[in-house]
Amino acid sequence: MKAKTKLVIAGGGTAGWLTAYSLVTRLGNLLDITLVESDQVGTVGVGEATIPTLRTFHRLIGIDEREFMAATHATFKLGIMFDNWGQRGDSYIHSFGEIGQRSWMAEFHEFWMEARAQGFGGSLDDYCLELKAAKANKFATQVGKKSLNFAYHMNATAYALYLREKSEQAGVNRVEGRIEQVINNQSGDISALIMDDGNNIYGDVFIDCTGFRGLLIGKNLDVDYEDWSHWLAADSAIAVQTEAVEAPRPYTRAIAHSAAWQWRIPLQNRVGNGIVYSSQFLSDDEARSCLMRNLSGETISEPRKLQFTTGRRKKAWQKNCIAIGLSSGFLEPLESTSIHLITTAILRLMKLFPFGSNTALLAEQFNRETKLELETIRDFIILHYHLTQRNDSPFWDHYRTMDIPESLAHRMAMFRENGYAWPDDVSLFRVDSWVQVMMGQGLTPTQYHGAGRVLPVSGLKQQMANLRKLIDNSVTSLPEHGDFIQSYCPAQNL
Ligand code: FAD
Repeated sequence: MKAKTKLVIAGGGTAGWLTAYSLVTRLGNLLDITLVESDQVGTVGVGEATIPTLRTFHRLIGIDEREFMAATHATFKLGIMFDNWGQRGDSYIHSFGEIGQRSWMAEFHEFWMEARAQGFGGSLDDYCLELKAAKANKFATQVGKKSLNFAYHMNATAYALYLREKSEQAGVNRVEGRIEQVINNQSGDISALIMDDGNNIYGDVFIDCTGFRGLLIGKNLDVDYEDWSHWLAADSAIAVQTEAVEAPRPYTRAIAHSAAWQWRIPLQNRVGNGIVYSSQFLSDDEARSCLMRNLSGETISEPRKLQFTTGRRKKAWQKNCIAIGLSSGFLEPLESTSIHLITTAILRLMKLFPFGSNTALLAEQFNRETKLELETIRDFIILHYHLTQRNDSPFWDHYRTMDIPESLAHRMAMFRENGYAWPDDVSLFRVDSWVQVMMGQGLTPTQYHGAGRVLPVSGLKQQMANLRKLIDNSVTSLPEHGDFIQSYCPAQNL
């Protein structure tokens, strides 16, 4: 029988430990896994807001929701509230829920637009259970037979520790120490990591989870980075934690300022805050004071600066090395997509795992899928910046007037002129996501599908009213978010 493949994971942040745990639980009897990390180097320690795909991923790798939430002081997330993005003073929620009822021919917003034209229908928000529950600070995993679509806010450091403990129990060998050098064989594959104590860690396959450093994929294998800062100019963030001064809200906040945006992520015991900005438009001191002015609650950690370049590694898989996490690229955290990208990279790796010696096609497929996925999410994030009427600073002028990818320009034009929206190529952001952000930031279609006129006006009116009533009744029946957490997954070790 063939010996086990020796897999070496360099780095133990969220990417490293999530990869380790997934592989050991699902392919563990074929692999001998070693993870190398350095307490001295540390992790980025941010990455606290997630999207609903993490729930499916957790189910695939056997993570119990209540146990995970208690261990990471997690709260529930039903979406993101965007303040001041379209114009100063406005606010909308991009929720994870489904809006109204679509038909196979037309989307719900098109029926709603017809209702509005007839003088009834209320707000589009009235037709989304998750959105209305978020606004009312209510939550339960399901109401009646309907499951809500939700994600989590969690403590990133506690998450990596939780995964580490489970991975070690499942057989992952952890090595503490600093990687000093990476050794290649004659064909250019990585053969070993040389540690600061002189030990060599040999492997057949190496996973680069060393974060922005990209020690293996970038520094050793010299894979270039495609810089997207002409579209997504943010290159800096400052993160700080504050005391919780109110019950945790079941949504993330993304508050735009005149030259930056700020996140607020409520956990069970504290709030994670940060400001994301571009050094082209804001100095570190200005960003820091903007963040400090806009906190609620006393700070309980020192502000920490992080620097990054938005973009992607041109090949996430090169030779016998696969980059997962920040080493493979980074889109700024506006839509909380990084941990999602870690999970899709892990799934892709599991499907395309290099068990044999002929791996070129596997690598090519992996790289092709990774590129498409990142480009799709990139367009969605650019949309938030570009689709603004704000003209109160050079920052907003830059984003409002810049050239955007052709794929996004086409999507915006289709919506503006025809009300037509469609899911993205990798099925991450559904029609409802695109519609909520486009409408939320002021892009209203000039015409739309005629399906809403097929029904008599009275029929349309009745159907819309029924939908609203159903949602209102459901929201009323839900418990407060904080109460639900206390009964479902109260935090451990606070
Ligand atoms: P890191 O956490 O940096 O881990 C790198 C690992 O490599 C560490 O264990 C380190 O010790 C090890 N290492 C490095 N060099 C060496 C060496 N020489 N020797 C030994 N070990 C080494 N994602 C989300 O999904 N949601 C969010 O809300 C979100 N917010 C973010 C906000 C900001 C400002 C930033 C920058 C990122 C955010 N992210 C978010 C992204 C998220 O933080 C990362 O995707 C996630 O933490 C994974 O990071 P990582 O494991 O790739 O890297």
